[in-house]
Amino acid sequence: MKITAAVARAPEADFSIEELEIDEPRPDEILVRVVGVGLCHTDLVFKASQTIPLPAVFGHEGSGIVEKVGSAVTKVAPGDRVAITFRSCGACARCEKDDPAYCHTMPLLNYAGMRPDGSKSLQGKGEDIGSNFFGQSSFATHCITYERNVVKVPTDFPLELAGPLGCGIQTGAGGIMRSLACEKGSSLLVLGGGAVGLSAVMGAVVQGCETIIVLEPHEARRKLALELGATHVLDPAVATDLPAAVREIVPIGVDYSFDTTGIPPLLQSVMQCLGPHGTFGIVGIAPPGTPMPGDLMQAVTFGHTVKGIIEGDSDPDTFIPEMMELHRQGKLPFDRFIKTYPLSEINQAIADQHHGDCVKVVLLTGQN
Ligand SMILES: [Zn+2]
Ligand SMILES: [Zn+2]
Repeated sequence: MKITAAVARAPEADFSIEELEIDEPRPDEILVRVVGVGLCHTDLVFKASQTIPLPAVFGHEGSGIVEKVGSAVTKVAPGDRVAITFRSCGACARCEKDDPAYCHTMPLLNYAGMRPDGSKSLQGKGEDIGSNFFGQSSFATHCITYERNVVKVPTDFPLELAGPLGCGIQTGAGGIMRSLACEKGSSLLVLGGGAVGLSAVMGAVVQGCETIIVLEPHEARRKLALELGATHVLDPAVATDLPAAVREIVPIGVDYSFDTTGIPPLLQSVMQCLGPHGTFGIVGIAPPGTPMPGDLMQAVTFGHTVKGIIEGDSDPDTFIPEMMELHRQGKLPFDRFIKTYPLSEINQAIADQHHGDCVKVVLLTGQN
């Protein structure tokens, strides 16, 4: 079947909108007509680093309507509205503990750019196109995905906004609500006020954190952080001594810190912001080879923990419905920082997001 997709052909080149052929779903596969797909930094990192051989179709925050299912699929049926999250195997020790973000086959199922058997579900003119990114490759009008990827979306939830719940929003909100499980009354420092950082702020409000400090260079994003429940915001151009600025607000140091930036010197300075028995959760992707932040003697003396986090330790089958319910109650208003663009304007959307003109992009295919 013919589809339209945004194809990455070279690391620095723009995406090109092309007509491709997509496979019929195999017994364990689901064909989804994509309605919306979030744009995440991870898509651009994989394109720039060519971790997956190009040409390839990225996109891993899709949502849409099930069009066809393979013979072995029972979780969803044609016509179902679904959000599409990362893929996990469902059978390893981590998956059995409802901890699929650390699935033993996470890299093979999500970052290989092909099915585990080496085949690709997308073809261009005389060439195979990298596919199965996060088990979906959803920068397209249609994608092939799997039962472990999909979570049903109720009819009263805006389907085109559901995709980011499967990555960016669950990473931020889940990081605070699941991974760090910040207690009511605790203090938190969030580094970065992008979609993940602002989702962390919303998660912190749900948890009842008393002090929520956000470090963010863009003024518009600092303002938004305050509107979403941050109690203090810091501009890194002004707060050049981060530990001093944080200790002016919480003299003993914060109970929790959450990094979404992956900027090595910043990570290092955060350890000085932590109070006794403080925990530093990290979702930001630092360059390969970056050492763990902190000083071992200090970590022992103050009982500090540094914790790497994938996908907010979310079990999508339970956490995505929980987030949709919080959104319905007005407690997770992530739609406030989403800007939509047609899929065909993906390059403009990337430029706007890069300049800080918008926080989170959702690309629409014009289908419903
Ligand atoms: Zn697994
Ligand atoms: Zn993502």
